[in-house]
Amino acid sequence: MTSLVEIHRTVPFECRRCWHVWEEHYIVRRIEDQHGNEGEVWLWGGVPVPPPSPGASCPRCGCEQAVTFPDGYLAHHPEAIPRAEPPAPDATPLLSPVPRAARWPIT
Ligand SMILES: [Zn+2]
Repeated sequence: MTSLVEIHRTVPFECRRCWHVWEEHYIVRRIEDQHGNEGEVWLWGGVPVPPPSPGASCPRCGCEQAVTFPDGYLAHHPEAIPRAEPPAPDATPLLSPVPRAARWPIT
């Protein structure tokens, strides 16, 4: 007999480059065949995808240095959940005088 279980999973990701935090919703299909062999299929938007793993692409900056959190991490770290509204833009100009590094005197 073959059994099929569907589990809804929300996996939090964090980008190691721009620190963007987001979540992806997956459906995990656990299939067990008559021999007791278990298989897992991850579905994202109804499409089979590889299980989430470090190296996912960041939707904001496009780099591939995103990491996943352990299950339940965000429940203990609500500050990491992105706000629904984007933060107000910082009016401070990014340009600031940076002192030039002093050159080591060549003697
Ligand atoms: Zn990023």
